Amino acid sequence: MRGARLLDPATGLDDLLELDVVDGRVAAVGRELSGSADEVIEAPGLWLAPGFVDLHAHLREPGQEYKEDIASGSLAAAAGGFTTLCCMANTDPVNDSPSVTEFIRRRAQLAKVRIEVIAAATRGLKGEIMSEMASLVSAGAIAFSDDGAVISSAAVMRRVLEYASGIGRTVIAHCEDLQLRGDGVVHEGCHATVCGLPGSPAECETIMVARDLELARLTGARLHIAHVSAARSVELIRDAKKAGVRVTAEVTPHHLSLSDEQIRGYDTNYKMAPPLRAGRDREALREGLADGTLDCVATDHAPHAAHEKDVEFEAAPFGVVGLETALPVVLELVREQRMSALAAIDCLTRRPARVLGLRAGTLEVGALADFVLIDPEQLWKVERAHLHSKSKNSAFLGREVRGRAVRTWVGGRNVYTLGEAKSCSRVT
Ligand SMILES: [Zn+2]
Ligand SMILES: [Zn+2]
Repeated sequence: MRGARLLDPATGLDDLLELDVVDGRVAAVGRELSGSADEVIEAPGLWLAPGFVDLHAHLREPGQEYKEDIASGSLAAAAGGFTTLCCMANTDPVNDSPSVTEFIRRRAQLAKVRIEVIAAATRGLKGEIMSEMASLVSAGAIAFSDDGAVISSAAVMRRVLEYASGIGRTVIAHCEDLQLRGDGVVHEGCHATVCGLPGSPAECETIMVARDLELARLTGARLHIAHVSAARSVELIRDAKKAGVRVTAEVTPHHLSLSDEQIRGYDTNYKMAPPLRAGRDREALREGLADGTLDCVATDHAPHAAHEKDVEFEAAPFGVVGLETALPVVLELVREQRMSALAAIDCLTRRPARVLGLRAGTLEVGALADFVLIDPEQLWKVERAHLHSKSKNSAFLGREVRGRAVRTWVGGRNVYTLGEAKSCSRVT
């Protein structure tokens, strides 16, 4: 690879450098490398970054393959520059047994990108009885989460944290008090009032964030808070980190970029849980990401079919796709001078990898040759036809965005090139 601006947050490199790959790993990084490559790729004007790591995706297989499956979700990932993603357990059947974990891992062998499996923390995501965590880890699960549902009982959450901690695993929490939310579908505020839509206050999230931080402190367990949406949650996490609680947190591209004023058009592609909140919340999320309180960006890619989303706002399911638009949203922060290009890439690579201890997110010599070529200036309009996901429920449809993954490699193998026919192939 020649001519590209190489950005590797793990080594701090940000320079015009060459990269050589041998046998699926990075063999050398430097100037005027003498390696005798089979293929030389010239990439002037482009950025070369480690492949992105997504800690939070819903791939819908098994059970809801009409929305997405592992193959289509992994193609969407590759098209967005992601080379590793972690899939949530709210499939059908729920991934609360080793046989489901093993099934997903087998299917993942056919995927374009590397897929890590997050298993359910409680049986059937019911928040009552703990899953068989040790057997799930033996089957290949790397972390636990009831995301898609909520562990409402503090007693159950305490046991989940204690047990996961005992086997060295992180618990990922979807923090939402469902009783306080009631039938709320959007952020409680003036836009909800004007639209006549039932609101869900930020306290739905902050109460549960506070509870889980206290339980993480009590148990000493590692807690990761999914899709932080409220300014007050950022404050709570910042204080807990200062106090030594083992907590990490993520923010989605849609919460970083959009706010509750979007709901004025009743477009169900702005309906997600937690909801888009006020402008001041979005500002706090951006600050929290820039100062490291929020560890990384994760997409919460949640595909839903058109017939499910194309209904009245209150009846539509929560969730939006996100793998293919995360990069331009994060690059907005660079253009607004909120962070450097290297720091922005860090939010998508080394920082998420570190949260779950994944072997990914760097281009240092010896690392897996998972990387992406980015055209940081490419202006493109997000349209259904562009999206590789089976579902097109993007909150960015119709918008012009800047920055795009143009080629993606996994283990040194080119798995995606912008403009080439959509297909599926095996990771080597
Ligand atoms: Zn969630
Ligand atoms: Zn989710």
